Amino acid sequence: MSSGLSWRHHTIIQALLSRGPLKEKDLHSMFQDLTNKNPVTERQLFDGFVLKINKALTCVHFELRGCIDQYDGQLYYGVVNTVSDEQSKLGTKYKVPQIAFYKAIIEAIVQDATANGVVSNIAALNFSLDSQVTIVSNQQSQESQSHVPSVLKNFSLADKEKTLHELVKDQWLDLTADGNIKLGVKSFLDLRSWFRSNDVPSCHVCSEAGVKVELCQNESCTVRIHQHCLKQLFSLRKASKVCPSCGTPWPYAVTKAEAVQIEDENERRENRQASGSKEKRRKKNRIVEDDNAVQNEDDNERRGSQQATGSNEKRRRTNRIVEDANIGGSGASQSSADFRRVTRSSAGLM
Ligand SMILES: [Zn+2]
Ligand SMILES: [Zn+2]
Repeated sequence: MSSGLSWRHHTIIQALLSRGPLKEKDLHSMFQDLTNKNPVTERQLFDGFVLKINKALTCVHFELRGCIDQYDGQLYYGVVNTVSDEQSKLGTKYKVPQIAFYKAIIEAIVQDATANGVVSNIAALNFSLDSQVTIVSNQQSQESQSHVPSVLKNFSLADKEKTLHELVKDQWLDLTADGNIKLGVKSFLDLRSWFRSNDVPSCHVCSEAGVKVELCQNESCTVRIHQHCLKQLFSLRKASKVCPSCGTPWPYAVTKAEAVQIEDENERRENRQASGSKEKRRKKNRIVEDDNAVQNEDDNERRGSQQATGSNEKRRRTNRIVEDANIGGSGASQSSADFRRVTRSSAGLM
């Protein structure tokens, strides 16, 4: 049976496999170059294109998926392996102790009490892999669980440094400007179900795992929100920069640059909904240029009542691609409203 993929699909798959995850704007510009179609104004075409790729990838347990990098708030697309054990995810490149080391780092990052989503280089290099015995035991069942296998004991400081370097190079991990270790884009793409099964607390706004988040100032409140979700949340409300759960004031200021960016994003969404006449766009641009706060917020509130928050929308868009792959034959002809329903009802099952 033919996969039905054209050279255009193959070009995109090839790019994602060889270059690793791509930013949304890079994937969009590739799509535009290949098809002469605008992926933003012709969203259904783009979604259909991705759906077709995903149908072909399903047979080999791969999936083209979108995710948001929680450190920069950007949407990335990447191909992930849907077989859910570390060995197959990290491929044949990494050995058992290296995978155990990666897992220890991930665990430390998600357990960071300040929710900055980082672990220091020194702390990582000092990790003992003793607690990771189960990985090895699972794979080498002849070894007893009661003592640490030698393969982990002999994993030296130099081995750790080398592994860290490789994990960063392969985008499983990344480094912050001040040299701490954070999750790489590949981990965000890949670990969604791991975050769930390990009870990583979720963001109050988008319900995705909250690895790099801001915490409510009220110590007895457990609300945590991604920075990109906060930006959307507070751009929709007049002056109430407060915790959506307990009402404690939330120190937050939208910069002028961010306000413009939010406007741009909202505008893109409106254009996609095919309602954006040129006149409307011109008017909105004028509002942004004038930086007229009142009008801006009225505009936002009107939008807020029409649709869910921007980041929910963004998340739905991210998830939609994944869900599309599961919808099967009827997916391509469904309206976007149907997509949303499907996505919402199946969120949390991945
Ligand atoms: Zn969020
Ligand atoms: Zn709170």
